[in-house]
Amino acid sequence: MSLTLYNTLTHQKEVFKPRRADEVKLYYCGPTPYNYAHIGNLRGYLFSDLITRSLRFLWYNVKTVMNVTDIDDKTIRDSQKAGKNLKEYTEFYTQAFLEDIDHIHIRRADTIAPISLLVDEMITLIQRLLDTGYAYLANDNSIYYSVAKFSHYGELANLDMKGMISSVRINNDEYEKEQVADFALWKAYDPEKDGPNRWDATFQIDGKTVSVSWRPGWHIECSACNMRFFWEQIDLHLGGIDNIFPHHQNEIAQTEAITGKEFAKYWMHCDHLLVDNKKMAKSAGNFYTLRDIVTEMQKRDISLRPETIYRAFRLMSLQSRYRESFNFTFDRLISSLATIRNIDKTMKRLGRYTGNNVSWVRKEMSQKLDTVMGDFIAVIEEDFNSPEALVLLFDFLSYVNTQIDTRTLTLSEKNAITDFLRSIDTVFAILDFSLLESRLDIPDAIQDLLQERTDAKARRDFARADIIRGEIERQWYRIIDEAQGSHVEKVE
Ligand SMILES: [Zn+2]
Repeated sequence: MSLTLYNTLTHQKEVFKPRRADEVKLYYCGPTPYNYAHIGNLRGYLFSDLITRSLRFLWYNVKTVMNVTDIDDKTIRDSQKAGKNLKEYTEFYTQAFLEDIDHIHIRRADTIAPISLLVDEMITLIQRLLDTGYAYLANDNSIYYSVAKFSHYGELANLDMKGMISSVRINNDEYEKEQVADFALWKAYDPEKDGPNRWDATFQIDGKTVSVSWRPGWHIECSACNMRFFWEQIDLHLGGIDNIFPHHQNEIAQTEAITGKEFAKYWMHCDHLLVDNKKMAKSAGNFYTLRDIVTEMQKRDISLRPETIYRAFRLMSLQSRYRESFNFTFDRLISSLATIRNIDKTMKRLGRYTGNNVSWVRKEMSQKLDTVMGDFIAVIEEDFNSPEALVLLFDFLSYVNTQIDTRTLTLSEKNAITDFLRSIDTVFAILDFSLLESRLDIPDAIQDLLQERTDAKARRDFARADIIRGEIERQWYRIIDEAQGSHVEKVE
């Protein structure tokens, strides 16, 4: 079998063959740090994470780059509204973004590039587009890309361009599909909109030196970032379907006009996130950040730990295929939370299992592991089918439970199971392996009480924590508090 994926560029499923066997160059557009990321944004990064983790699981050597769009219409507008300078403002929200993705176990890109550090690269690219006639200076003092000059403009977005090219120009970073238009590469300084945010650039245009304070448009930023870190060609470009047009289409037009080579070999896009089957919008009252979700869930159950909520959210996102819309509801999150608890229970049981202290793995068990691993690889190679991969995990965990129930496992088999889970969890990142460290032969009821006490201490409810300690001790267990956490021992 080989990995197949749906390529937006060719509008079909294809076998994945990176340009070089020894390295996959993978790029995705990063956040615009003008506010906290909402869960729709985060769904996009969970998608990039699934693809990156899966490729690594399949032994591809993946290098990832993500930009941070710290210069754009929205960061400039909102930093001024907040009375902060652009750098300070965007750094705050970039940090908040990184904390959010860490919480939900999204691996950070190998290179994270704030676009404000790449202004020189953008100027160089724009000069080359001016030199080759793809860009022109308009009478509003901005430099535009001439889409009519690029022969296959519209290919990625599957637009029929006949009769659509007009002499219309657009200066906004974001615009609608209907507006096929020349887009701004470098925008004339507007003191009212841009305030103190201006970058000096000097261009050679028709033999004349033109020097004005301007600022970059959004689309050139990603072309510059790719050129800087990956040079002319990449293997895989990821993003949300909203960015196919105009943003990704414009990235292709810019980069390929300069290099004369195909930019990304594969383009993959994830579908929208919906809330209660509706588009998420502040005006609709169904707009959530990750922080909002934790607050909402803790309103229902104060003892819920944020980490458990994050894992449930992550599990929930893996339960939809990336090309389908992901419908977020609190009911679904609660049911994912129940699933996480069941998974944790099995992990704890496995951790406490003593088994037969013999060092062999039955043939039947090694066959089981081989079969499940083969099936797992097959579903991942089938366009990253995460819901099917989860079904395999759940089936396997129930098999583990049966083995524990019948006490047929040997210790070597227990280790083989643990290694297997560690391997497939490099894709999911939802299992809690610290639970395997649970002390031996402690009943679930006592473990649960201990957890309750830890939670009570975390929320500084020491009176409750003391009551629980009493309950545990009455059942002849002793609590041992250590730096890395608390555990219980049977009083002999
Ligand atoms: Zn981009």
